[in-house]
Amino acid sequence: MEVVMNKLVTLTNRANRSFVRFTEKYPRLFKTILTVLIGGPLLWFLLPIKADDVRGPILMTLFMLAVFWLMFRLQRKSLGAGKRSGGLRREENVTTRFNDVAGCDEAKREVMEIVEFLTNPAKFAAVNAVVPSGALLIGDPGNGKTLMAKAIAGEAKVPFFSISGSDFVEVFVGIGARRVREVFETARKAAPCILFIDEIDAVGKKRGSSGGDGGEREHEQTLNMLLTELQGMRSDPTKPVVVIAATNRPDVLDPALIRPGRLTRHIEIGNQPTKGREAILKVHMAKIPIAKDDVDLKRLAHTTAGYSGADLANLVNEAAIVAAREGETLVHMSHFEKAKDRVIFGTDNGKRMSDEERQIVAYHESGHAVVGELQSVLDPVTHVSVSPRRNWLGVTISIPTEDRYITSKSKLLARIAMAFGGRLAEEIFVGNINSGANGDYASATAVARDMVTRLGMGDPAKFSQRVYGDDESELTKRLIDKEVDRIVTEQYAFARQLLESNRDKVEAMTALLLEEDTISIREINKIMRGNAEADKPKVTVH
Ligand code: ADP
Ligand code: ZN
Repeated sequence: MEVVMNKLVTLTNRANRSFVRFTEKYPRLFKTILTVLIGGPLLWFLLPIKADDVRGPILMTLFMLAVFWLMFRLQRKSLGAGKRSGGLRREENVTTRFNDVAGCDEAKREVMEIVEFLTNPAKFAAVNAVVPSGALLIGDPGNGKTLMAKAIAGEAKVPFFSISGSDFVEVFVGIGARRVREVFETARKAAPCILFIDEIDAVGKKRGSSGGDGGEREHEQTLNMLLTELQGMRSDPTKPVVVIAATNRPDVLDPALIRPGRLTRHIEIGNQPTKGREAILKVHMAKIPIAKDDVDLKRLAHTTAGYSGADLANLVNEAAIVAAREGETLVHMSHFEKAKDRVIFGTDNGKRMSDEERQIVAYHESGHAVVGELQSVLDPVTHVSVSPRRNWLGVTISIPTEDRYITSKSKLLARIAMAFGGRLAEEIFVGNINSGANGDYASATAVARDMVTRLGMGDPAKFSQRVYGDDESELTKRLIDKEVDRIVTEQYAFARQLLESNRDKVEAMTALLLEEDTISIREINKIMRGNAEADKPKVTVH
């Protein structure tokens, strides 16, 4: 019975949440529905003439519905700048310039030609120069791909259209293709212009990768239409529509998309090195009052390895918020330090765990942290948390102390052991393994496989530099699997041994986590080495 009640409560909660979400997402539509539902009958009862049946209020409701529908239609016709329709956004008079995009000098040089082309297409047409009218920006989210595309439009003073690849993904065959055609048609009317397609992988993944009949047919039609439109772009050379697409997964794209004449240019816009991070911080700091002689820009840039451009922008903003909260008028270095934690962890995701779940998560994260800390080749663990954020219930964070481009074999092995630490701690301290540990297992195996097939770190090393694809012989595949299995098994045993002989540390960290929610480097050092300031011991593992 209690189960049924609980189910019911969950269901009501869920319905409630979807309702709230709906009202937040479509406030106007919600108000309209409310007005019609309440206003219709009310109007009827207020009118002097009355018939004695229910048809009156219903008719009145329908009448009001018709009026609102007409109003909506008229409004839609007059959609102006900055408005969206079917996912397509249009922006006129873009104010973004190359100066707003910090770092990325190489990328800027590469897109310069597109700007020239857009500014004076006739000049290029006159000499029959074929200018590539499509570019693919490649890089992890938040590194400024959208910003760069906008800056191109801003510099060339042309309209900026943007849409996400997922806006073309439809269930019914033919709908996605029609939308592609409509979008390009709209863009052509405004040419010269930029058409930015974010997350192009959503619509441009390889044919045959969708699975399922209907889905595959729809995907293929949409992709074909996209290919046709991209090819047709050069039909009027004096009125170019330059397509800038963005992705962080170029490997899944259909090869036809990047063939000559389509998205020919490939431009990397990835995580920035220290110099680039410094430039990005500078751009965003210009917008807030900084205590100039207190804030060490170089140090900040140095200690934010792995931050995306968006993370850095967020960091500056959070620092300003912290300062304002403390009643300061200038933002100091201490505010940036505090803001860092907030940027790393993100905001509360609203998930609530039971005490039991929380304890499991605390053991799990302590397991990762202890195994990580005991291996001196790894970067120090700076934070451990059991406060649910983003898409996780708990998290262990190591922050590299500097930019690194080369990874050693011992580091990768240590990383595999660390990934197993969470799952093992659950097994050793709680007594069973729970569903949360799946991702860890997958990532550990992926690292091991990479070592064997790509990095030449397996035994024998000859399996490296091969594409682990269908063309491998069955025997090779089996040998590779065996080697991956050996690495994984060894690291699993090693992680278990580390945890078994450091039970006190795991227990101490778990207890502190349950009390504090989040602990950072000082507390971690204290538990691991009895000293808050201590460096890692210089014990080499493996
Ligand atoms: P992407 O499209 O690659 O996911 P965005 O262009 O949307 O990333 O970047 C998000 C935000 O992060 C930008 O609006 C900007 O505030 C900040 N940002 C990212 N990269 C840079 C950069 N190179 N220079 C300045 N700001 C940046
Ligand atoms: Zn884990």
